[in-house]
This record gives sequence, structure tokens and C-alpha cells, in this order.
Amino acid sequence: MQDETAEVAVLGGGVGGLTVAHELSERGLSVTVFEAADRLGGKAKSHTYKPTPDVALPAEHGFRYVPGFYRQLRDTLARIPREDGTTVADHLIGTEETLVASVTDSESLKRTQTPTSVDEWMAAIRPSVGDDQLNLREINYFQRRLLTFLTSGRLRRRDEFDQVTLWKFLDADNQSQAYRTYLAEVTQALVAMDPRRASARSICRIHVQLVLDQVHPDRSTESILDGPTSDVWIDPWVRHLRSQGVQFRTGTSVIAIETDGERITGVATGQSGEPVTADYYVAAVPAEVMTKLVSPELIRAAPTLEGVASLETAWMNGLQFYLTEDVPLSYGHQAYVDAPWGLTSISQSQFWTEGPFEFDDCCDAVEGVLSVNVADWETPGIVYGKPANACTPEEIKTEVWAQMAEHLNGEEERLTEDLIYDWALDPALTYDPDERQLTNRAPLLINTVGSFRHRPSADTDAPNLFLAADYVRTETDLATMESANEAGRRAARAILEDVGANHLPRVWDLSEPRVFEPIKRFDDTAFRLGLPHPGELEREVRGGLLPRANSLCGRLFR
Ligand SMILES: Cc1cc2nc3c(=O)[nH]c(=O)nc-3n(C[C@H](O)[C@H](O)[C@H](O)COP(=O)(O)OP(=O)(O)OC[C@H]3O[C@@H](n4cnc5c(N)ncnc54)[C@H](O)[C@@H]3O)c2cc1C
Repeated sequence: MQDETAEVAVLGGGVGGLTVAHELSERGLSVTVFEAADRLGGKAKSHTYKPTPDVALPAEHGFRYVPGFYRQLRDTLARIPREDGTTVADHLIGTEETLVASVTDSESLKRTQTPTSVDEWMAAIRPSVGDDQLNLREINYFQRRLLTFLTSGRLRRRDEFDQVTLWKFLDADNQSQAYRTYLAEVTQALVAMDPRRASARSICRIHVQLVLDQVHPDRSTESILDGPTSDVWIDPWVRHLRSQGVQFRTGTSVIAIETDGERITGVATGQSGEPVTADYYVAAVPAEVMTKLVSPELIRAAPTLEGVASLETAWMNGLQFYLTEDVPLSYGHQAYVDAPWGLTSISQSQFWTEGPFEFDDCCDAVEGVLSVNVADWETPGIVYGKPANACTPEEIKTEVWAQMAEHLNGEEERLTEDLIYDWALDPALTYDPDERQLTNRAPLLINTVGSFRHRPSADTDAPNLFLAADYVRTETDLATMESANEAGRRAARAILEDVGANHLPRVWDLSEPRVFEPIKRFDDTAFRLGLPHPGELEREVRGGLLPRANSLCGRLFR
């Protein structure tokens, strides 16, 4: 029988922490969330920019998008009721196209809806960067490498392909500039990562999902919310959790996790170290915070936590331009393929028409918000010749605008300075003018080559400590809202199993086409025997000659 008196302390109120609170409170457990910030939602929360005391403009840490393959997050959104009788999932809107803008080439629109003609099918599955198409040999090569990945077994992916960078796996050094730009676009579309550092396993898995999203008739390729993230999703979520009895202690930092070397005995919170005890503890703080909380005693109790210190983060942060006129650009995202700072953007107002948000309620002068994500903070820009992490906020704004204008202002001047009413940089970034230094309080985990083995799973060897954040081992395996949600579900499952609950939260695997299953199983056996994948052999044969091995996989690659 389920122990309904169990008390759970959730440390951190981002997507991971709120997911645990959701799953456990729904099943009657008593949950308290301890959150360092004043507002819940972590990296997913919006913030408010107040240029004057009576104007409050909505801003995002970075714009949010929900690809079709996000099953766990979509399920959670569908279980959050809103006051108007809808659920948060009802407030997802499918985009229609991505504008791919280039400095060196003409721009193009990539459809983000299911192909309806042969031409659209070809466009959907062909790797391309704007109009600058990869040559046929490269397209062929790219697709064969993807086929190698799709036909490789679980073990090979984990022990071989996680040890290789995406750059090397796809042999980018020996391909054209268009091919390399395409790889950068593939990795930066979701995370702030250079393909030279990214794990081939992590990025190829997600790339396969994104391609499937594009062509699958039952999945929307990508969706976004119809208003600022906190208004539409996080605030209703917190309201719902409160109604289920969840207690929130915002503005309360966890400063230590205490242990007797076997179990967790309590946590210390706030500046004074106020002790908190519970039956179960769920650490839902980001990797760089967890690293500081992991003591040698804690590693004794939960040895898998030792790897957390080896995980790496990079910067990805948002910048909002508030415009006096709306500039829709495209009904979806924009990718600036030659921008040194890895820019992507979305023009928000066109999607905020049906939701709860009204521009007129907050500022008459603002008609549009161009929300920009900056994914590369280390490459010099075009105006000051400095990387973003060495710029002042004002320089960042000037530089980002210039890089976008360079891409968008061809025959038609779409971005002119007089459109800017105001702008706001992510408040997680603070600039010290004396030290001339920019600091980022919210870096993002990156799945670097070889990092899988350092990542702990949601349940640890300490019987009352669980983990729920985007660095935890999950099927999703990329630092996203989906992986944080999945980690939260896995942590909740482990606790619920321990209290004897029957009805456990659901966790979905990433699905790949069934046609490859027998070959993947074959490859698992081949891997155990120390044999290479035929796709790897093919690569080693100069001139692209195919191996003649008379095996199932060999035949596949002829
Ligand atoms: C700019 C940007 C854009 C992104 N866009 C997308 C996107 O479009 N789609 C997508 O799926 N993902 C996106 N992501 C990734 C996604 O936002 C994160 O992976 C996810 O939100 C992480 O959730 P989390 O709960 O693991 O961690 P976090 O969101 O970091 O939450 C951890 C919480 O712990 C709190 N905390 C920290 N220290 C303490 C402490 N000592 N005590 C108590 N609390 C503490 C923090 O304040 C925070 O609220 C984006 C990320 C960035 C940076």
C-alpha cells in the first residue's frame, strides 16, 4: 500500500523540479519546492522588463520552442488547466516556415509543415543551407552517415559514437563551407554548441527526431506558445500545483546537502543555513550548481555524482527588441546562417493574438517583439571585432542588430534602427563596468563528446536522493525542457516505487523507424564481438568504395 505521508523536498523550481512536484502531488505526496529565485520556472521562465515604472514589457530568457517529438513535455502541458477552461497544450501553435537568411546568398523559406508534394518531400529530407545547396556528393555522404547512425545499436552509440565529435563523425574537415555551415545550424538550432565539441551520438539522435517531425503526418514539426512563457504556461502551472497542495519557498537557496555517508540527512537553506528535513530529496538544480553541492561525503553516498563536475556548459541567452511596428519576417523562426554569434530569432507578436497577452495592456508604443537567441559568445562580431562575452550590453545590442540587418536588408530595408523602441538583455547576464566583465548566472549544459558516461541517472545510490534536471541521463539526452521533464518523471517514478504506488508517471522512449530494428540488434551483437559498423568501414575505404562483406549490414551499404 502507498505511504501517503511521505514528504518530499524538491531543490530547484525549473521544469525538472516542477515536473517532479506535479507527478508526486497528483499522487498524494506532500511536496515543498525550495527555489533560489523569486520567480519559478528556471531557464524557461519569462521576465518583465520595466523601462519606466508604469511600463512592463514581457521578455524571455530565450525563446521557447517545442518540437513534435517532445512527448513528455506535451503530456505535462495537456495536464495543466488554465482558468479559461483550456489546458496549456491548447495554447501551442504550429509554425509554418523558417526563414533562412544568408549574407552571401539569397534567403529561403524552409517549410516546417508536413510535405504535401514530391518537391516538398525532397526539400524536407535534403540537407541545405538557404539557397547555398550542398553538392550531391556531400548530400549523399551526409545521408549515408545518418544511415550509419540509424542502423547502429544502442551499445555502439553509447560506447563509440558518444566518443566522437559530430564534426569528425560527419568528416566536416574534408567538405565544403556550405556543409560546415549546415552542421553548425543543426547543432545551434537547439543548443549552444559547436559541432567540433558536440557528441555525435547526442546530436544525431535529435537530428533524426527533427527530420521525423518534419515528415511525420501526425506530428506538428514545431510549436510555440501563444504568449510569454510565464503568462501562458509557468504561472498557470504553479497555480495548479498549489491547488494540489504543493508548497513553494521562493527566494530560498539550498547551500548544502547533508549526509551521513549513506543517506541524505537534511539540506541547509538560506544564508543562515536553516535546516530542512524530508523523507525524500530531489535535487533539481542545474549541473553547475550541483557541482558545488557535491561534497566528498555525498560522493560516498551517491558515487555517480562524481561525474557532474566533468560536465560542461556554454552560454545561450536572449535579447528582445521592442519595435514600434511589427516586423513578422516569417511565420516561424529565423536562422542567420552567416552570423558569427549564432543568431536565431522569432517575431513574437503574430503568435500572441489568441493568447492571454495584450500589447495594448502594457505599452501603446510597442507593436512587435523580435526575440533573439545568441548561441555563440566566443566568436568576434562584425562591428566591434569582439566576442559577445567581452562586450557591454549596449555593444551586444548594437552588434546583434547589425548582424541581423546585414542578413535581412537586401533590396528591401526590413530592419531600420528607428524601429527600436527599446531592448532588454537577459537579466541572467550582468555587466561589471569596473572589471569590464560580463557574467552569466544561467549557462546551458552542452553534450560534449564523451559526456554521457559522466551523467548520473535520476535515482542515485543514496536511497533518499533523486535528481531531476536537464543534465540527468535520459532518453532525450540533450539539455532541453523535454529532458528536464523526463528527468523529473524518472525521479518521481523512483520515489513512487519506493512508497509502493501502483500508478507511475509515464516515460516515453524516442521512437525511430521500426525498419531499422533488426539491423540495430545485429549491430549490438557485432559491437560486442568488437566488429566495426559497415558504415565505418565504408568511410575508411578511400574513394567511398563500399565494403563487400556479405552481411545484412554490408548489403545495406552497397
Ligand atoms: C536561451 C535558451 C533558450 C532555450 N530554448 C529552449 C527551447 O526552445 N526548447 C527547449 O526545449 N529547451 C530550451 N532551452 C533549454 C531549457 O530551457 C533547459 O534545458 C531547461 O529549462 C532546464 O530545466 P531544469 O529544470 O533542468 O533547470 P533550470 O531551468 O536551470 O532550473 C533549475 C532551478 O534551480 C534553481 N536553483 C539554482 N540554484 C539553486 C539553489 N542553490 N537552491 C535552490 N534553487 C536553485 C534555479 O533558480 C532554477 O529555477 C533553452 C535554454 C536557453 C538557455
